[in-house]
Amino acid sequence: MNVILLGPPGCGKGTQAARLKEKYGLIPLSTGDMLRAAVAAGTDVGMKAKAIMEAGHLVPDDMVVGVIADRIGERDVQKAGFVLDGFPRTVAQAKSLDEMMKRMGWTLDHIIELKVDEKALFDRIDKRARDARAAGGEVRADDNAETLKKRIVVYREQTQPILPYYREQGRLVSVDGMADIDDVSRQLEAIVGRP
Ligand code: AMP
Repeated sequence: MNVILLGPPGCGKGTQAARLKEKYGLIPLSTGDMLRAAVAAGTDVGMKAKAIMEAGHLVPDDMVVGVIADRIGERDVQKAGFVLDGFPRTVAQAKSLDEMMKRMGWTLDHIIELKVDEKALFDRIDKRARDARAAGGEVRADDNAETLKKRIVVYREQTQPILPYYREQGRLVSVDGMADIDDVSRQLEAIVGRP
């Protein structure tokens, strides 16, 4: 089985992807995490992505499509299924994903939008930065009010058009991402089904 979680930065995709892993064994695939790992490791992809990510822009489609295609092709993901968090982020990426699935003889099982309001996003990202600081951890370079504003504009302009792309094909389901975390998980489980 596979699931795509869609929604703006800070809407709870990462948290819910981790819960879908616990409940169903699906492997969370976060392009943001993969890119941050590439930056930390100083790979070619990481060196190209670093400044773009820090500015809150999207890295080029071919770069993330390559990263995701490699990972989806690996044995553990093929076996356990996956939950996508942060991919696709453009209609071109959504189309590449459709082609990838077709080549592998897979279908996308659940495409789910987490609906949230923008004010809540600022509060959540601010909290994520404060929690990381309090725990003595590193704060993401792009978790600040200024970059978040840019990331939300980028979301509106480049990512939101994915919603009608999937909706018109009758493949999109929306849940209330403003509900508390457990409630959102219950909504997702009602869609995804029993483990
Ligand atoms: P995230 O952790 O999902 O918020 O992603 C952090 C940053 O990584 C984004 O602001 C982008 O710069 C980059 N990124 C992550 N996923 C993608 C994607 N699918 N397409 C383009 N850029 C991405």
